[in-house]
Amino acid sequence: MYRAILFDLDNTLIDRQAAFRLYLIDFCCRSLQLSTQAEQEQAVDELLAADDWGYRPRDQFTEWVSERFPDAQLQASDIWEDCCQHLPSFVEPDSRVQGMLARLAGRFRLLAVTNGSSMNQHAKLRRAQLTKYLFDTVVSGELGFEKPHPAIFERALSLAGCSADEALVVGDDPWADIVGAKQAGLRAYWVSLGRQYPCGATLPDRVLSSVLDLEQWLV
Ligand SMILES: [Mg+2]
Repeated sequence: MYRAILFDLDNTLIDRQAAFRLYLIDFCCRSLQLSTQAEQEQAVDELLAADDWGYRPRDQFTEWVSERFPDAQLQASDIWEDCCQHLPSFVEPDSRVQGMLARLAGRFRLLAVTNGSSMNQHAKLRRAQLTKYLFDTVVSGELGFEKPHPAIFERALSLAGCSADEALVVGDDPWADIVGAKQAGLRAYWVSLGRQYPCGATLPDRVLSSVLDLEQWLV
């Protein structure tokens, strides 16, 4: 029987892909020197592809943006700062996720275990109005280890006061969430969002099309 559920944040509890798309539209208007709507739409598509669901390391992504759009004369550090400042404001609260967490919080200790900067990830949680349902939050930027490193899962287990076999990880990143969790000895459910699981990665214990499918497996 599980005592704790360790949720990934981006593209698991929040629709980070939708928020990032809206942020990129805003960023392209404000910061890139593009003259037509068609150029802006193409830039958004290219930026989304380069971001790869947020899995690409941030320093690589921002360097790529800087080199791809030289007329904007943006340093990678400027792009990262802009993203941290503006992205959280595009995260939308989801009443369905809130309702599920409200029900689960009465039965399990719920933790967010997320890679990213402290400011950015906490701002997204507040914007999504999820903080009140969480027993605790572990952010890689505060810990010095990021998923898939076992230390971040061990930290979450310590905060939850349970062992690896009493906790479940739920996340969308096959490598950071699923492979990482399995290496740390936890069970892991993968949120597919309609994607195929990559060959060669340790298989998840279950595939969910969305985090909202979780509850039916916890009866
Ligand atoms: Mg994620």
